[in-house]
Amino acid sequence: MAEYEVVIIGGGPAGLAAGLYTSRAGLKSHLVECGMFGGQIVNARLVENYPGFPQGISGLELGSLMHQQAIRYGLETINAEVTGLTLGQPYHIFTTEHSFEAEAIIIAAGSEYRKLGIAGEERLLGHGVSYCATCDGFLFRSQEVAMIGGGDAAITDALELSQHAHKVYVIHRRDQLRAAQVLQQRAFAEPKIEFIWDTIVEEIMGMERVNALRLRNVQNHQLSSLEASGIFVAVGLKPNSQHFVNIVEVNETGHIVTDKLMATSAPGIFAAGDIRGSSARQIASAVGDGATAAISVFKYLRG
Ligand code: NAP
Repeated sequence: MAEYEVVIIGGGPAGLAAGLYTSRAGLKSHLVECGMFGGQIVNARLVENYPGFPQGISGLELGSLMHQQAIRYGLETINAEVTGLTLGQPYHIFTTEHSFEAEAIIIAAGSEYRKLGIAGEERLLGHGVSYCATCDGFLFRSQEVAMIGGGDAAITDALELSQHAHKVYVIHRRDQLRAAQVLQQRAFAEPKIEFIWDTIVEEIMGMERVNALRLRNVQNHQLSSLEASGIFVAVGLKPNSQHFVNIVEVNETGHIVTDKLMATSAPGIFAAGDIRGSSARQIASAVGDGATAAISVFKYLRG
């Protein structure tokens, strides 16, 4: 018999919901998280679309509540980074702290910020380049900043930045936003936000700190420069699937392929949340994935 019936990789909403369900079902469960419990949501100043909190709740608090609730029912958790897995029964899960044996695995390792991949981005990271408005927005009080992207994250972050900065330029590669209507309406009504459409950033400039951006209009190919002391990038997320690509099937974007019961191509391995191919990438859907994966693990182990 393996040391654990199930090991859950990742302590965001999907992993913590899975751990709550597996523990309450009486499965000996262990969860490995390399950062803060709550995952990406700890960076959200206010979560307004998770049911049960009509006034919204901070992502940090929501993550902490999910963690507390899961450990109350017996989930063991550890802060460590998973470095690999071996196939077979039992599975071996290697981490920077310990290795574990488990009869089943739920991969809920989430995603990380996608980079623009342009000159100056890496060099000026932490010196005006940021991926987290909640973490760094206050550093740009009364300054001019740029927000790159047109999705929910970019518009939520632009609204948050407008509370600190003097001016927020939203630079989007098309002439229409992808973000939810309610966010668009708020952003269009915010006088500190100005949109620069059909435009990409080609270079982030500055010696010690960001001081300007080189822009290209994708319609007429005209180049221009924009003075800004900060650039916030929110151009989507990349799945943290690098340790699992030789173990389970992934799609062309690196997301793990599952069926609707969260089963992957490997028996006994399930996946939940943002790392999964057809995830809706919402906290509510991640929690639903986690619960479904836990129920599937229970059926797999106990029939
Ligand atoms: P997203 O929805 O994939 O949007 C990414 C945005 O970045 C798109 O507007 C895209 O442009 C643009 N983009 C992608 N690559 C680019 C590049 N190389 N250069 C310039 N622009 C680029 O990602 P997200 O906003 O991070 O959201 C991820 C998921 O989390 C979504 O499902 C979202 O609903 C969810 N989320 C929800 C909330 C909320 O409900 N408040 C907040 C944050 C995130 P195109 O539009 O042209 O493709």
